[in-house]
Amino acid sequence: MKAKEILKTMKPYKPGKGIEEVKKEYGLDRIVKLASNENPYGFSPQVQKELPRLISQLEIYPDGYAATIRQKVADFIKVDEEQLIFGNGSDEVVQIICRTFLEPGANTVMATPTFPQYRHNALIEGAEVREVPLVDGHHDLEEMLNQVDENTRVLWICTPNNPTGVHIDQPTLQSVIDRCPEHVLIVIDEAYYEYLEAEDAFDSLGAIENHSNLMVLRTFSKAYGLAGLRIGYGVGQPEVINVLEPSREPFNTSTVAQAAAILALDDQTFIETSVEENRKNKQAFMDFCDQNDISYYDSQANFVLVHLPISGDEMFEHLLTKGFIVRSGEALGLPNTIRLTIGKKEDMENIQEEMKQKIASGVK
Ligand SMILES: *Cc1c(COP(=O)(O)O)cnc(C)c1O
Repeated sequence: MKAKEILKTMKPYKPGKGIEEVKKEYGLDRIVKLASNENPYGFSPQVQKELPRLISQLEIYPDGYAATIRQKVADFIKVDEEQLIFGNGSDEVVQIICRTFLEPGANTVMATPTFPQYRHNALIEGAEVREVPLVDGHHDLEEMLNQVDENTRVLWICTPNNPTGVHIDQPTLQSVIDRCPEHVLIVIDEAYYEYLEAEDAFDSLGAIENHSNLMVLRTFSKAYGLAGLRIGYGVGQPEVINVLEPSREPFNTSTVAQAAAILALDDQTFIETSVEENRKNKQAFMDFCDQNDISYYDSQANFVLVHLPISGDEMFEHLLTKGFIVRSGEALGLPNTIRLTIGKKEDMENIQEEMKQKIASGVK
């Protein structure tokens, strides 16, 4: 057998530790998972209530065109139905974009660290990956534009950026889009869009009207709390969507995911409550950091990347023994950092206490 050469250098995605795994390993009853930016308040009770009805007719293939959720999302974000492509999570939309635009001889430009799936899928397609280090948590957009040449096919922009949580403001992003050559597809990944509260946030959907080489990615996995069902989407001008469609599997989003997403979209109260709770708890966490000389990036998402006086792995291991799963930044090339999802108030108070104690004992 002969697989693609590049795969020898790649590893499968390593998920954060699972809840059951940690429970067993440390003999704990309750685990608080703050590792994957999931919604700590779950998902809409409307979805919960209707689930038995949604799980019917499983013998029938899903609607491959996702017509009902398509219409719903189009109305909600005020675009045409032909401007949407749905994926088995926005992860799959990333994969579809890579399958469509990337090949050996082509290159793609992105920040580092950022969401790892852009790089991963680009490598599998045989493209050259040009990674531009973040500067103080922010995309170095000028350098990213410098890296663009005639063989660049896709420019990835993640805002708010995972794992730093910082966003890119309107004038900055507008200027990048205006200056980026038109042969390059610009993908703006807005997985944390619902949490973005900055007044200078970029109007990405508005920009699509004037830029045929722009796509925006959104998901039901984060604020909507449907990560387990896998559904997300991309928005662009119909011409881009048409180019992507042949690379999409015919039945890539499930019947249940489509139906749940419709109900979830109708329950904006759940989103508002989740966002408000996140805002309060995030502020309290940042206040805690200020009081304890822990520096952090000002996050517009539901997670915060903090800089510690000890190694990220050490803090990760310590928190694990106390029943908290976070992400160490060490593997991301961010030494002495952890990324933690903002959880419920009480859990945050407890984790703050644990962090404080660990730091006090670690730096003595
Ligand atoms: C979580 C995440 C996604 C993937 O979300 P799915 O829709 O669950 O595939 C995409 N981009 C970023 C930046 C994320 O953090």
